[in-house]
Amino acid sequence: MEFKKRIKGIKISKEVRKKVDKELKRFARLPHHSPERPYLENYLDWVTSMPWNVKTANDVSIKRAAKILNEDHYGLKQVKERVVEYLAVMKLKEINEKEKKKSSKEKIPEEGGPTILCFIGPPGVGKTSIGKSIARALGRKYRRISLGGIRDEAEIRGHRRTYVGALPGRIVQGIKTTGTKNPVFMLDEIDKVGIDFRGDPSAALLEALDPEQNHSFSDHYLEVPFDLSEVMFICTGNILDTIPPALKDRMEIIRFSGYTEEEKFNIAKKFLWNKQLRFNGLGKEKIDLQERALHQVIRRYTREAGVRELERMLATICRKIAKKKAEDKKFGSKVSLADVRKHLGPAKFTSTVVEKEDEVGVATGLAWTQSGGEILLIETVLMPGKGKLLLTGQLGDVMKESAQAAFSYAKSHWKELGLAENFAKKIDVHIHVPEGSVPKDGPSAGIAMATSLISALTKRPTRKEAGLTGEITLRGRVLEIGGIKEKIIAAHRAGLKAVILPKDNRKNLEDVSAKVKRDLKFIFVANLDQVLSEVFVPQKKKRAAKKNGETKRKRVAVPLTVSAS
Ligand code: ADP
Repeated sequence: MEFKKRIKGIKISKEVRKKVDKELKRFARLPHHSPERPYLENYLDWVTSMPWNVKTANDVSIKRAAKILNEDHYGLKQVKERVVEYLAVMKLKEINEKEKKKSSKEKIPEEGGPTILCFIGPPGVGKTSIGKSIARALGRKYRRISLGGIRDEAEIRGHRRTYVGALPGRIVQGIKTTGTKNPVFMLDEIDKVGIDFRGDPSAALLEALDPEQNHSFSDHYLEVPFDLSEVMFICTGNILDTIPPALKDRMEIIRFSGYTEEEKFNIAKKFLWNKQLRFNGLGKEKIDLQERALHQVIRRYTREAGVRELERMLATICRKIAKKKAEDKKFGSKVSLADVRKHLGPAKFTSTVVEKEDEVGVATGLAWTQSGGEILLIETVLMPGKGKLLLTGQLGDVMKESAQAAFSYAKSHWKELGLAENFAKKIDVHIHVPEGSVPKDGPSAGIAMATSLISALTKRPTRKEAGLTGEITLRGRVLEIGGIKEKIIAAHRAGLKAVILPKDNRKNLEDVSAKVKRDLKFIFVANLDQVLSEVFVPQKKKRAAKKNGETKRKRVAVPLTVSAS
């Protein structure tokens, strides 16, 4: 019988053999017309075709791995370094394990066990691509599954055979597809796994990932444990907060924070353009994408932390050229600025933040969302009313509270701000954070909202080119926030000149690249007073001096004397 033959040559544990033998006997006894027969046949097919003991040779050369990672990717220096370190540790552990096995017959599990790599960052920054490169560097098979939106434990662990149409879970399915028990297995969107009445998929994931349990991973369908301990799991996600803590504990987190315009330019020039030419049947053509044209695509047709949209745009250009080629029409050997317009249509983003006028009631906030750092232009308008605060733009509770804190601050500091007492009684305030379709939350827009509000109240325009981020307290203190690196990269990408951030975040500047540090001015603040003096467009010296009753001040600042406590 075919199944018997299949299982004969494979080295499997006694437990598995016993189970297979039992099911084989049952199968042989079943009459041909039995309705159970196809189900059992399917099961036997699964069990006997799992790679119980098939491996790809594991010969990690650290030097080679580093070379391959560099060959496949531009930049990402820190990421590559950490991946190489991880591989080095993995190699040493394997050597130690082998020696231990030689000296003692008993299998002693490695203390602590290996951790799982987890890549966190916005879409299109190369997480998946680095994972593929790791598989190439290790010479292992590669498999990727997405966990996004999975709420049912059975998706991970399989359905019991009693269900009609039951199948193993996605992990076992993935392993079978690779045909080896030691592939590089990527689990995408680990931050989007949900929990509901159908069980907790993260518990099953934990069993698959945890080195202390995964040598006998139980899939409901297979019914016999499968050893996942040699699989190299790599998880990816956009944010860290939603990953279940038990899983997070077992992971080594590597952050991808997004690319600057210059990095995108180089990635496109060195990788994406040639790749798209190849994909679109133009591999043999030497078509040059001119520098100005590429900059135009990056600036005017994409707005993202990664390069996914950029790659799509380049693909569109290639397709248009491919069409011409297929129709035997003439096509040039270069893509110019005018060609970009012709192929991609009118620019999607016509002006950048800094190209716009400085305005009253608008502040440039820096935000950190699932898709990386972003610029948010926060707007405030005032209208006759009764002191109501209206907030729009899909703001979360924490963000709403920040706006309320900013309003209370303005009300309690009316004098220093040069406002009338009880000014709030006669007006309603509307604060809007654009791009309403994107939900936003977190305390870090505090100082930007306060600036926008106070600018509207005092009628002083704000400097658009200064990006603001920081939490604000009721008394105007500015507190430390997260996602600094991502926000700084976003500010740089948008061409801002300065970034105003909490004093306690100074330490986060360490990982920011030297080029970005050179291009941006960093202003660290401890209180809102300092923020306002930096962010308002300086008034004409004379007028301001008169108003302030001062004449010697070099820098004309807002007439504020608020001291933060
Ligand atoms: P993610 O998994 O983070 O969403 P991908 O790995 O799918 O992103 O990357 C999107 C595309 O951009 C892929 O074609 C990838 O090869 C390319 N890419 C991203 N970063 C780099 C880089 N640093 N060097 C070369 N190509 C890159």
